Amino acid sequence: MKDTNPFDVAIIGGGPAGLSGALVLGRARRSVVIIDEGKARNRVTRETHGFLTRDGSSPGEFRAAAAEQMRRYPSVSFVQDAAAEISGADGAFRIVTSGGDAYEAKKLLFAAGKKDRPLDIEGLADVYGISAFVCPYCDGWELRDQPLAVITSGEGAMHMAKTLAGWTSSYAICTNGPDGLTDEQREALAKRNIPLYDAPIERIESKEGMVEQIVLRDGRRVACTGIFFAPTLVAGSDLPQSLGCEMTEAGSLVINDFGGTNVPGVFGAGDAATIKYQAIMAAAMGSMAAVGINMELLQETWDNA
Ligand SMILES: Cc1cc2nc3c(=O)[nH]c(=O)nc-3n(C[C@H](O)[C@H](O)[C@H](O)COP(=O)(O)OP(=O)(O)OC[C@H]3O[C@@H](n4cnc5c(N)ncnc54)[C@H](O)[C@@H]3O)c2cc1C
Repeated sequence: MKDTNPFDVAIIGGGPAGLSGALVLGRARRSVVIIDEGKARNRVTRETHGFLTRDGSSPGEFRAAAAEQMRRYPSVSFVQDAAAEISGADGAFRIVTSGGDAYEAKKLLFAAGKKDRPLDIEGLADVYGISAFVCPYCDGWELRDQPLAVITSGEGAMHMAKTLAGWTSSYAICTNGPDGLTDEQREALAKRNIPLYDAPIERIESKEGMVEQIVLRDGRRVACTGIFFAPTLVAGSDLPQSLGCEMTEAGSLVINDFGGTNVPGVFGAGDAATIKYQAIMAAAMGSMAAVGINMELLQETWDNA
């Protein structure tokens, strides 16, 4: 770590949002420390898709390429650690890490993503990121034309029923308990020959990460080679709330067009501040937040001249 405390900006989270923000800030000649504990939600996957020029890269390759490009900008430092506490206010924030180090920064960018609540279906963790995914736009192509299953209920089930039709004609809905559907919605599924199973799931059986079947508690089995499911997500970090940042019900930071939160000097980007979970979206948000932060710093310098 370069000894440039206090930094212009501390970025909490080194995924696409934080790294993209750091790139723009580094190029704007800002001193930046990225603090990242390396536990991105997509670390279970082998490939990231849909990011132009990076389609098919593993999350690790994506970050390695980012680190390589970041080396051109000596004012950007990277620390592998978790931000544990943050105090202070605009112009003088203090971050203490789990490792016991302290960093000071004028501005903060929260890009800490979101976290999955523990998966409560036996066998799901074995297939998550290999043959079970959360978003057809990210991983539907790899599972195209295969027999698939969706694990979700209510409006989510109807949404996925319509969406998956773009990738395969053979899929079943497993609601893992009460389906939360109206009679009209059940009829709509039946009319399109989409099987609906509302029995609780006993377990998912797989071989080397490849799902083979979903076993229901009523004894029925749903054969499939891929799954899409809706995980329950929570904010990647509680620290923004400890500073008084406003959050949505979905656990996202409330931000303006340039990533600014309701707390002066605190910005948000990426999954931490949206429910549109795509790496390229996160990177774009990090970039915009960096511009917002830099504009504030430039304005402050201008005003204090
Ligand atoms: C299974 C799966 C597959 C996906 N596939 C795709 C895909 O193919 N294409 C696509 O575009 N998107 C995909 N996504 C979504 C994509 O991964 C996210 O939208 C993107 O990674 C969000 O970037 P981010 O920088 O906001 O957050 P993240 O990438 O989650 O990075 C946040 C970082 O902050 C760190 N952090 C959290 N708290 C702290 C703390 N207190 N201190 C320090 N560091 C902290 C985390 O450890 C993590 O490294 C997928 C997601 C999942 C779950």
